[in-house]
Amino acid sequence: MKTRIVPISASSLREACQILQGGDLVAFPTETVYGLGALGLRSDAVQKIFHAKGRPSTDPLILHLPSPDLNQAVTHHWMAAPIPPFANELAKKFWPGPLTMVVPKGAKVPLEVTAGLGTVALRVPAHPVAEKLLQVLGEPLAAPSANRFGRISPTDASAVLQELEGKIPLILDGGPCPHGIESTVLSLLSDPPTILRPGSITAEMISQIIQTEVLLRSQPRDSKSALPSPGMLENHYAPQTPLYLCSAPIESFPSSYQFILYHRRAASPQAQTYLLCPDGNPSTAAQNLYRILREADQVGSQAIFIDPIPDSPWAPALRDRLHRASAGTANWANGQWNLRPRETT
Ligand code: AMP
Ligand code: MG
Repeated sequence: MKTRIVPISASSLREACQILQGGDLVAFPTETVYGLGALGLRSDAVQKIFHAKGRPSTDPLILHLPSPDLNQAVTHHWMAAPIPPFANELAKKFWPGPLTMVVPKGAKVPLEVTAGLGTVALRVPAHPVAEKLLQVLGEPLAAPSANRFGRISPTDASAVLQELEGKIPLILDGGPCPHGIESTVLSLLSDPPTILRPGSITAEMISQIIQTEVLLRSQPRDSKSALPSPGMLENHYAPQTPLYLCSAPIESFPSSYQFILYHRRAASPQAQTYLLCPDGNPSTAAQNLYRILREADQVGSQAIFIDPIPDSPWAPALRDRLHRASAGTANWANGQWNLRPRETT
């Protein structure tokens, strides 16, 4: 199959809708990362997502809705009644936006989307292209990140092509994604609500709206651990070059490695160095993370080292992705780098 990248226009959006309505896949920009979309209520179309990504069927998908109105979602049987506590308040505050809420599944949602679960993950994206597609289609799109399973999420159209060339017909090129990391996933089925995947909408921001404590699920030890959120594997978002998380800001730069620095450092060799947060704003670090990991990966060096992520509202999300992407930790001691592989069982 030939994969085409097309700029956003009335005719490319129309073509994208036709492809989707025909049961095929289209990659499109969202405010978080590029999504690989299929009509979310059609099993055959949804199955193509799993096939194109090489994603196991046990890993449920997020359903993207055309409207933040949860009553409409219930009426259409995209989610089941009753609407869980806090869902309406959170939808009002954060939708459209990078918050995914796990709620009871409606009868119209195929089991392929939810990996057989009785719950479904819902969100309304805040990106003009995603919003337009959903508006025209008038029904949900299932859309995981548009990368092969386990690999780095794409934040621009060329990264999608790198991942899925020959596997999908069309990529809508809406430029780089403004946020750069995936949505916060919040389960409303636990009491108190639990963040299953941290993102730019933090526990504090959610707590403030619902006036209740919000738990942050601790890191799973392995892929077989208890399943409030199947599919959130310990190994994910990974470059092919081993990535090591440094215990202190990097000060030694051997020539066989690539280095991702959080802040600029005078001594770093330019050719091997990437700067995650040039303007000191942690949202810039999130925006840059996957692009830089992808660039560093393409060099084909022995390893990539990355600075520790300093505390900020974005830190839990950045550290979560880096932990899953990493091969281990690195620390500089006694004049040498000591590498420790990450324990997975
Ligand atoms: P992505 O592949 O980036 O779209 O990530 C979607 C993530 O949302 C998956 O990895 C799941 O862990 C999570 N998710 C989707 N549906 C559910 C659900 N019903 N219950 C819990 N987590 C879910
Ligand atoms: Mg993904």
